Amino acid sequence: MSFDRSKWIWMNGRPVRWDDAQVHISAHALHYGTGVFEGIRCYETEEGPAVFRLEEHIARLFDSAVIHGIDIPYTAVQLEEAVCETIALNEFEACYVRPICFFGSGVLGLDPRACRLEVAILTWPWSPLLGNESVVTGVRVTISPWVKLHSSMLPTTAKACGQYLNSILAVRDALRRGYDEALLLDAAGNLAEGSGENLFVVKGGRLLTNDQDSSILMGITRDSVIEIARDLGYPVEIGSVTLEELLNADEAFLTGTAAEVTPIREVDEQPVGGGKRGSITEQIQNVFADVTSGRDRRYCRWLRHVETVSREYAVGSRQ
Ligand code: PMP
Repeated sequence: MSFDRSKWIWMNGRPVRWDDAQVHISAHALHYGTGVFEGIRCYETEEGPAVFRLEEHIARLFDSAVIHGIDIPYTAVQLEEAVCETIALNEFEACYVRPICFFGSGVLGLDPRACRLEVAILTWPWSPLLGNESVVTGVRVTISPWVKLHSSMLPTTAKACGQYLNSILAVRDALRRGYDEALLLDAAGNLAEGSGENLFVVKGGRLLTNDQDSSILMGITRDSVIEIARDLGYPVEIGSVTLEELLNADEAFLTGTAAEVTPIREVDEQPVGGGKRGSITEQIQNVFADVTSGRDRRYCRWLRHVETVSREYAVGSRQ
């Protein structure tokens, strides 16, 4: 991951230099995690950089904000344009995009309404979360001792800052014990999801993945993979996924914006399928790569091409 090449951040309505994008130590979100955010990817295509499912990500940001009583002072279209402008200003061909809306400085009582609302968009180059190699070789996961927080405790379909402490406990425990990633069970003892990815298992040519009833974030990559798999002719069932189903699977994989489509090759030392990437997983990965690079025109509605803007124009227009 490299922040070095990112020169501009969009902050509260205008581009500012990376070093000038500062918040005060009394920011409410720093103390209590009161913010919502998104993780989006922009891909290199023959027609220049293109953002994958930008509208859906920004829509989820607004949904998360509603749940947490955050009134975003921009329209979805303004934020979509701001994302594209920030990518263009940084002259990235491909990058990760992180819009965040959070309560800044004001008060430190729990009610954040008197705090100033900060809205920012960061972009930086970021290769697949679990490593370039893992996309081919697959990852080794462990079932976390930390249970995924139940959606009645914090709405898990919202992508809110503070709730990631649950994922962070799980992933740090997994890494400490020598695994690549954690899988969290839900409160009922079924599988929920990875620390930052959704889960799919494949058995007998059918895919199975869970939904909000397992306290997961409803991933946009998950949604894309469901559509791609069905278009390839593989039935996809939505329902709870048990540990037994994972251990007995022919193949399993994780999906997420940062991790993309990453095979699982082992669960707590036990090989999944053949202990390597499965053929259906590979086929879905290949289509996903064709979709995000714009080569597969069937899904071109998922790509928003970034217009290049001259730095002088973009900065000047907001001064
Ligand atoms: N679950 C969690 C907890 C996540 O943080 C993410 C990443 N946003 C996902 C699932 C996957 O969601 P998406 O495919 O929209 O990135």
